[in-house]
Amino acid sequence: MSGNHGERIQAGSAQLRFPYDSHKRVEERAWIEARVMELAEYTDPESRGYTRLAFSKEDTLGRKAVSRFMKDAGLAVRVDAAGNIIGRMNGRQADAPIITTGSHIDTVREGGRFDGVAGVIAAIGAVRCLRSRDFPTQHPVEVVVFTSEEPNEFGASTVGSRAMAGTLDKRLLVTLKNKEGLSLDEAIQRVGGSAKGINEAARARGDTLAYLELHIEQGPTLDNMGIPVGVVNGIAGFARGQVTVVGSTDHAGTTPMDVRKDALVAAAEAIQVLERVGRRKDLPNTFATIGVVENYPNAANVVPGRVVMVTDVRNTEMEFIERAEHAFQEELRKISTRRGVDISFDRSNISFPVNMDTWVTGLIEESCQACGVPYHLMTSGAGHDASHMAGITRAGMIFVPSRMGKSHCPEEWTDFGDIALGAEILAATIFKIDERAKEVGEHGQGNC
Ligand SMILES: [Zn+2]
Repeated sequence: MSGNHGERIQAGSAQLRFPYDSHKRVEERAWIEARVMELAEYTDPESRGYTRLAFSKEDTLGRKAVSRFMKDAGLAVRVDAAGNIIGRMNGRQADAPIITTGSHIDTVREGGRFDGVAGVIAAIGAVRCLRSRDFPTQHPVEVVVFTSEEPNEFGASTVGSRAMAGTLDKRLLVTLKNKEGLSLDEAIQRVGGSAKGINEAARARGDTLAYLELHIEQGPTLDNMGIPVGVVNGIAGFARGQVTVVGSTDHAGTTPMDVRKDALVAAAEAIQVLERVGRRKDLPNTFATIGVVENYPNAANVVPGRVVMVTDVRNTEMEFIERAEHAFQEELRKISTRRGVDISFDRSNISFPVNMDTWVTGLIEESCQACGVPYHLMTSGAGHDASHMAGITRAGMIFVPSRMGKSHCPEEWTDFGDIALGAEILAATIFKIDERAKEVGEHGQGNC
């Protein structure tokens, strides 16, 4: 579904108009480009593409740079107990709930320049936009760089946003260690956090009025449609499962073809079956993938005896995830019988789908309409810090296009004009949230 392309809200209407200014937009685009490109320089020189793993030397350099960008934008910068960098612009009412916006700057190995970074720079850009146009807000606005959004070398992800949402398991901080034996706890201390006080990073419900995150789409939809903004209404959940196929390990040169129990051939069938399940019309918007295959003993002259695979099934409806897994298991039983191999399936991990807040999503749509910017209502197939923030506040997300849908790779690209436009929609939405907080029964409305 697409928004009302080109519709402008009329002057004099009850709706608030943000003074869009094309000259400022050009300036902002240059400002954004320079900051994104500076962060791209903080990359591990040993690896291809852009690598700034959480807690690495490059991450520390990137964090310093972002703190500087925040200070230059007039934000008061601090680091919370989870190592999240927080830049604050006070509101006219100091004790009003906070409007938070942000993302992350850590990358996957050999990733791109825009995942996370676009959202952080756009958030600072949005604050610049609000300040430059003399739009002081009633509510404080905080820009957050969340610690370690991507899976880190300790085996955890979304560390900072989970800490802020109060759902980070404290025991993991001590038990999770990297290859060098450093604990996650120690890594967080290195970036200025304090694992002992990690509870202090948690925000109570009511502390935050709303959370907004701009992010690159990481898929091809917006680029294919030629639409500059995606308004996200939900983040897909995912279920991971482990498939273990046990056949019989035998000599490749002496075991007749008709008596073999080749675990890898059975696994290959299972991979195809999962793909078919993912394409079923009665399971719309399902994404089903096997991205991990371990074959044992993995030798040229041995019939494979055991295969372990990991499934990843996603949908914005939990019911569809469960139905897809169920259908897959039924097919596994048939493969097992037909080929005489044992196949087990165990779900190992689940992340539930998350709905974005309808009030916030509506205000993002209004901001697009007021600016005459075409937008597309869509779901996110990738998880984000917003998934966790949605647990403690009203969350919304703005997507900007990824060229050819490429992400988590060096070719990842988003036009700086699209980020600048997204930053402006972000600023306008912050302004609307601030103005209209009373609609959701929040304070901070001054004398209204
Ligand atoms: Zn990201």
